[in-house]
Amino acid sequence: MAYDTSNIFAKILRGEIPNKTVYEDDGILAFHDIAPKTPVHVLVIPKADYVDLDDFTANASAVEIGEFFAKAGQIARDLGLPESGYRLVSNNGENAGQIVPHFHIHLMGGQKIKEGSMARGMQS
Ligand code: AMP
Repeated sequence: MAYDTSNIFAKILRGEIPNKTVYEDDGILAFHDIAPKTPVHVLVIPKADYVDLDDFTANASAVEIGEFFAKAGQIARDLGLPESGYRLVSNNGENAGQIVPHFHIHLMGGQKIKEGSMARGMQS
């Protein structure tokens, strides 16, 4: 699937839409989800154009992949998530409920998350 530069996270990265930034550097941006499903719900995205986790893991370098997840872990620590536990989710594709076609992970915590709950559909 080709990368669609009109997706909402691409617009955020271009500064066309505001976001509540948690962390930013040359390679990644982390920001609060606009519709949080848990008390802490942060999205972490690479700045480079990857459609989904499959695209990212197939086409990004090992260094890029490693740095992305190392930084995501640091962001989770900075948010105080590991003490009580948190969930990392990446919805890959339509059947998984991916809405925004720019690779992202959800960091979700601050409450007990029900077994089987996902980034969307936390009510289940
Ligand atoms: P997914 O279903 O994995 O594609 O998740 C996309 C997430 O992006 C959802 O949790 C949305 O609430 C969130 N989202 C959509 N638009 C924005 C936005 N402008 N700022 C922050 N989060 C957003």
